[in-house]
Amino acid sequence: MPQIAGPGRGGPLRVHDTATGTVREVHPEGGRARLYVCGITPYDATHMGHAATYVTFDLLIRVWLDAGLDVTYVQNVTDIDEPLLERATRDGVDWQDLAAGQISLFQEDMEALNVLAPEHYVGAIEGIPDDVEAVRHLLAEGTAYSLPAEDGRGEDVYLDLATQPSFGAVSGWSREEMFEVFAERGGDPDRPGKRDRLDPLLWRAHREGEPHWPGGPLGEGRPGWHIECTTIALRYLGESFDVQGGGTDLIFPHHEMSAVQAQALTGAPFAGAYVHQAMVGLDGEKMSKSKGNLVLVSALRREGVDPMAIRLALLSQHYRTPWDWTQRILEEAVERLAAWRAVVGGQAVAGGAGADSADGGVNGAPGAEGSLVTELRTALATDLDSPAALRAVDAWAAAGGPGDRAAVAVAVEALLGVRL
Ligand code: ZN
Repeated sequence: MPQIAGPGRGGPLRVHDTATGTVREVHPEGGRARLYVCGITPYDATHMGHAATYVTFDLLIRVWLDAGLDVTYVQNVTDIDEPLLERATRDGVDWQDLAAGQISLFQEDMEALNVLAPEHYVGAIEGIPDDVEAVRHLLAEGTAYSLPAEDGRGEDVYLDLATQPSFGAVSGWSREEMFEVFAERGGDPDRPGKRDRLDPLLWRAHREGEPHWPGGPLGEGRPGWHIECTTIALRYLGESFDVQGGGTDLIFPHHEMSAVQAQALTGAPFAGAYVHQAMVGLDGEKMSKSKGNLVLVSALRREGVDPMAIRLALLSQHYRTPWDWTQRILEEAVERLAAWRAVVGGQAVAGGAGADSADGGVNGAPGAEGSLVTELRTALATDLDSPAALRAVDAWAAAGGPGDRAAVAVAVEALLGVRL
């Protein structure tokens, strides 16, 4: 990824890690940070919950870049999964066409929101050969087992969680808590013959009418949901990469299972930290496809809402606090964007401290822009406190925009991703 920050350097990132329940420093030695964020299942357009997640991890990347790190960012796209197939069947469309259309809409939305693109954007289908190899290895090691499919024509494969003492380390949940969501989040606790009802599916044998791929010794079939992220992350980032990210609805089972499968394969922890974006609701309910209460990025764009205002609306809420999308939040963001732009685009105010300063520097400069940049860097490096960062720019704008305004605009884009 390119270095995007202005002059000077930000401090090391501190961020909340779900696995330890603490805010801790994530600033890898060696100059390169590695991030994996779970991508979309491409059957419906990008809603504010998705957008909040990808903007949050975009901020995290910007803090790392500003701190002088290179970043390798990998995201998957779950281009084969039950919800996608069900939606395609319901709508009478080809599932591959549905996926391709939704993937390009998602990428347009992300570009409009000025979200830096991943270095590797990998489809689950692309990763199937690695999945097959991983499952074969786990079977050979005795950490996975097969069960005959109902039609007797193939075998499904499950990870044997009893062999994995690290299971539970990501979520820290009790088994009761796990059972509360396991079935509704794609698990199959009632499948007869499973050794532990929580054992995750690694490979599903081909059933009539379902898409399938060659599985070598596993036979025709398709991978389970979690193994795709395990193998894509291991291939493109290696063992024990720095941050695994996603929404809080992925903590269990998805991130727990992805991690335990990686541990089973490599003997090493999957990621160093697990960072989760809180859910975004609408009218007191979680925004979700199944509830049909979605606010879509693409719909707002079509209405003519400036994507930078959408981004500011998302940034006005801290990533760890669940919140409801409201028209008022968007209106405030529109007003804030206009106020910032008016100041940045305006003439320098006489007497503004440091205006037209000869050094023009940002970091270490005595000018007002230097202290604003320091405030921005501090806020974002402190568990991605974007609301505090926005308040700092508000205060600067309210003071008439003292100092080098062009330098402020550069810093606001580099650090917050907001184009002024
Ligand atoms: Zn994932």
